[in-house]
Formats: sequence, structure tokens, C-alpha cells
Amino acid sequence: MELKISNLTKTYPNGVVALKNVSLTISNGMFGLLGANGAGKSTLMRIIATLQEPDSGTITLNGIDVLKDKDKVRQILGYLPQEFGLYPKISAEMLLNHLAQLKGIANVRERKELIHALLQRTNLWEHRHKSLGGYSGGMKQRFGIAQALIGQPKLIIVDEPTAGLDPSERNRFHNLLSEISENIVVILSSHIVDDVESLCNQMAIIDTGVVLVDDKPGAAINAIKNRIWRKVVGKAEIGEYNGMSIISQKLRAGKLELHLYSETEPGLGFELVEPALEDVYFSSVLMQSKN
Ligand code: ADP
Repeated sequence: MELKISNLTKTYPNGVVALKNVSLTISNGMFGLLGANGAGKSTLMRIIATLQEPDSGTITLNGIDVLKDKDKVRQILGYLPQEFGLYPKISAEMLLNHLAQLKGIANVRERKELIHALLQRTNLWEHRHKSLGGYSGGMKQRFGIAQALIGQPKLIIVDEPTAGLDPSERNRFHNLLSEISENIVVILSSHIVDDVESLCNQMAIIDTGVVLVDDKPGAAINAIKNRIWRKVVGKAEIGEYNGMSIISQKLRAGKLELHLYSETEPGLGFELVEPALEDVYFSSVLMQSKN
């Protein structure tokens, strides 16, 4: 499978430019789209999922024109939107049955087997008779994946799935995503660097509608090696570093840990650190804002 996005742009009627000339090529495995709230992730996801039109640009999925042959794409697409409504009073099993019918699986036995397999795969088997209104956040998200998997999709789009999940639910959800991404394309959008770092073999960083980085996480980290410097300072001292390329400041035991981007030794007691994906993210956003 190959999803090829070329020169996609989208401006909303209120003048907000959500995507600027976005080009990405995505193949099998897990692709992370990392960006802050408002970066343009959902807009891109909805356009790929055939739910929204761009102003210009093209998208092909294994040669299918995604923007024109919407029905063909929908047959091989599973989509888990950021927020999805669930009928609170019906059970997971009943809703999956209904959705499978809508997706054209007419044979009752075939449908039953599929639903049982999906419930087991997403660890919801023992909760299958429970009404969806009583599901926890993690269970709802796993249900979202179960419904997205109906019809053996070749492309799955998951928009900000871990917001609001507790750490163990998040782990469970990560494991599920990584299992299903072996033979298909899974696009995961997130503002959480750790989600992308632990799950994705390929990623892009997007900010104000622009793709800043398009690389493997390891390679992107390597590209800023020897350029990230650290210093712990008192909160009152932060003003002294104004004007320097401070990419992040984090509270650590009441003090501030600064990360600085610099191609040369900055002095002032900064020491070199091994960069992490978070440094890639913050340094790319800083560079963009300076341009
Ligand atoms: P993300 O998913 O990364 O948070 P979005 O794609 O939702 O980003 O939003 C990108 C930008 O477009 C934001 O500035 C947002 O406010 C704006 N936006 C999103 N949807 C609409 C809409 N329907 N009408 C106007 N502006 C919108």
C-alpha cells in the first residue's frame, strides 16, 4: 500500500489556512503525524478519509484517486475520528453487528464470526453485552478500532486516540495499534510526542499547516545530534536567556531545565545532551517561527 499526498492546500471560509502545500508519501506500517492543537492534523485526516475537500492538490492510494473515487477508498478505509458518537444504550456487540450490516456484510454467520473475532482482538469480549454508555475511555477507543477494522481495511486513520486515556489504557491501545499495523497503513495523529516515538516507524511534524519534518524518528533525532544543550536554572534567572534559541523549558524539582538549540558550543554552562524526539519537535517549530 502506498498513500501519496501531493501539494495539498486547504483554507477555511473564515480565512484560516489549515494546510499549506502538504506532500507526504506513506507506506505500510505506522505513520505518526505529530503537531500541536490547531496544526492541521484533523483537516488532513478528514481529507484523506474523503470527508472533506481540499482547495488543491492530489491524493492517491495505490493508484486510486482518493479525491475522485471516494467510494473505492471508503471500501478499504477504517476511520477513527477524534470524537465519535456512540449510541449509549446499546451493546458493543449490537452496534458492531449493525455497522457490519451497513458495510455490506449480509451473511449472518459471517457477520457473527467477524464480530466475535473483533471483540476478542480488541479485548472487549467480556464486555460485549455491556451498553456503550458504561464504557471507560480506553474501552471506547478500542471499540473505535473494532468498528474501524470491519471490512478488512487497508488504510486506517486514527485521530488523536490517546487523549484522556490513563497510562495503562494507553499502553493497551498502543499494543493494539501496533499489532494491526503490520500489513496495512495506519496513520496516527497526535500532539503527544511519546505516542509517535514509541509506535511509529515513520513520521511527520506539522505546524500551522506546514510539514516541518518528514522522516523516521531515529533519523530525525540523529539529524540534531550535537546541537541540543541543557542547563538547569532557577526560575528567576530565565530572563537572562532571552534572545537565545531556547526550545523548551521544563520544571524539574522546582527548577527549570532549559534545552537550547545551537550548532556551536554556547558556553554559559550549557552541556551537550542526547537529543530526543521532543527536541526534534521543539527545534523544528522554533526554526519555522524564525523563518
Ligand atoms: P488539529 O487537528 O491539528 O488540532 P485542525 O485541522 O482541527 O488541527 O485545525 C487546523 C486549523 O483550522 C485551526 O486553526 C482550526 O481552528 C481551523 N479549523 C478547523 N476546522 C475549521 C472549520 N470547520 N472552520 C474554520 N476553521 C477551522
